[in-house]
Amino acid sequence: MPEPLAGVPVLLGVFAHPDDEQFGTAGALLACAERGVAVHILCATRGDAGEISDPALATPETLAAVREGELRVACGLLGFAEPVFLDYKDGKLAEVEPDRLVHQVAAAIRRLRPRVVLTFDANGAYGHPDHIAIHRATVAAFAAAADPAFAPELGAPHRSDKLYATAYPRALFVQIDTDLAAHGLPALAFGDVQTIAAEEIGTADERVTTAVPVRHLWERRWASLIAHRTQYGAGHPFLALPEAVMRSWLATDVFVRLHPAPAPGAVLPDEADLWAGLPLPG
Ligand SMILES: [Zn+2]
Repeated sequence: MPEPLAGVPVLLGVFAHPDDEQFGTAGALLACAERGVAVHILCATRGDAGEISDPALATPETLAAVREGELRVACGLLGFAEPVFLDYKDGKLAEVEPDRLVHQVAAAIRRLRPRVVLTFDANGAYGHPDHIAIHRATVAAFAAAADPAFAPELGAPHRSDKLYATAYPRALFVQIDTDLAAHGLPALAFGDVQTIAAEEIGTADERVTTAVPVRHLWERRWASLIAHRTQYGAGHPFLALPEAVMRSWLATDVFVRLHPAPAPGAVLPDEADLWAGLPLPG
């Protein structure tokens, strides 16, 4: 794991698969990186059960190594630190002993000492069991890392200032399928990993605490998205759309701040930045 640099503030994103850092998230992370925050990604699997957009890029046997490389390239394009991987199998995260996963995420928090931690929401965006497992582990690790009684072998306790969940507005899922249909493309196929009711997919608008304008960051985030070549290859329906359509989906990255929770009755969203209220270097 890369060492944190003294005096440089850290944001830690904890995800399940290479490319989880992308949709609806990479712009807001890039906005932090551009202002001097060290953005670190902890990825629990190498995405070995994912799609292969083009058989020339990978085989099922090489996919884990290829996708590890894709995330390394994407992080480089975004100016993030080298990503760190845990060695779990894609699709099997929910079968991992929960305490083991919590211990590993807490170890990363104590080592990197992030002021901000980010992961999936409780529903895993669309019910993906790996996303739900990493959400649960990260929420538990966020608290455990601050507890002096937890795993003293991991070093001094660390209390991060904020914990965020990625948010995919329900309206966006509808808009995506509407736009795909309008261009004669098939709807998104979440059925293979969906463990929640269709109406529970995504995030209810009223829960969104944080809306980050990221339209101006399009070129760099787009380059990092298509660096995940096995996932966003030429056959992907999103790449068959006019660029303006995807630009409209990704104009604002939104999040739910889990800690500290918004004050009762607060008008939401109440901030426009993942780093809101925290000091920046220099
Ligand atoms: Zn994923």
